[in-house]
Amino acid sequence: MQKYGLVIHGGAGVILRNEMSPELEAQYRARLAEALAAGYTVLDRGGTALEAVTATINVMEDSPLFNAGKGAVLNADGICELDASIMNGRTLEAGAVAGVHHIKNPINLARDVMQKSAHVMLAGKGAEVFAQSLGYEMMPESYFKTEFRAKQLEKAKELEQTHGAKSASLMQERVTFTTVDDNYLIQQFKWGTVGCAALDQHGNLAAGTSTGGMTNKKFGRVGDSPIIGAGTYANNATCAVSATGWGEFFIRASVAHDISAQMEYQGKSVRDAAAATIAKVGKLGGDGGVIAIDAQGHIAMEFNSPGMYRAYHLAGQPAVVAIYGDEAKQ
Ligand code: ASP
Repeated sequence: MQKYGLVIHGGAGVILRNEMSPELEAQYRARLAEALAAGYTVLDRGGTALEAVTATINVMEDSPLFNAGKGAVLNADGICELDASIMNGRTLEAGAVAGVHHIKNPINLARDVMQKSAHVMLAGKGAEVFAQSLGYEMMPESYFKTEFRAKQLEKAKELEQTHGAKSASLMQERVTFTTVDDNYLIQQFKWGTVGCAALDQHGNLAAGTSTGGMTNKKFGRVGDSPIIGAGTYANNATCAVSATGWGEFFIRASVAHDISAQMEYQGKSVRDAAAATIAKVGKLGGDGGVIAIDAQGHIAMEFNSPGMYRAYHLAGQPAVVAIYGDEAKQ
């Protein structure tokens, strides 16, 4: 019988037991389990990997807990600026959107770019004009904004004043803060991106990623998430991958394609390839993680940050949800 299943992430970063309340932890675990179940149900009834990826990511985009869709981080202008991408491992078709402000589920628009346009990536206003031409509802900016993200932006701006532009957007984990609350706000600045990699009963792979990017981002900054080969990649011959982490490094290391390439050219297992790529990111000075599944249903969940919100469900096995570094890695 063809194996099938999926693996998901809700962002990697400084996620520590002693800084997480039991209530918040329970909320994360519940939402991850719900997202996983949404995708698994699709696969279980014979649906496609692509459908499973969008169904899973939609749950996390609609939850304010994650940095995607509703509850995404705010850019320097105080609005959510969303990126997403998706790839079909069977056809190597791909779609992506960057810098959209009014799309409830950016992963769906990325899928429509792939399936209904002649392009792979649409950015900004043009992407939204394309969405309108397909009848998408334009959500008000207020739909996406949460109080938590507003506080975070305030902190980021304060930090920018006291420690300079780089500290606010990039170097925050190297600065020590005085209160646990401040620490928590700061550590969540750029984490919480969501992603999914799935293998369906037809033997096809797909992957997708959706994010708000990094708090206080400016100048139209785009990270790895909407970039095919960096944040997302899928190829039936190798694997499906979604990444999360410090996007600048993930772009430079071509993370998602690098994992696939090691499998294709060197015959590595998905887990060895993912571990080698994350080690490369670490050498460059970046942090974060990836989830991946290969065409035989082997998975990888590799990260060099203290934690990564993650979960997987393979046919015939129980679903597994994990958050901290000392929990299930496979
Ligand atoms: N990789 C995303 C970005 O740099 C952020 C994240 O994964 O949380 O935009």
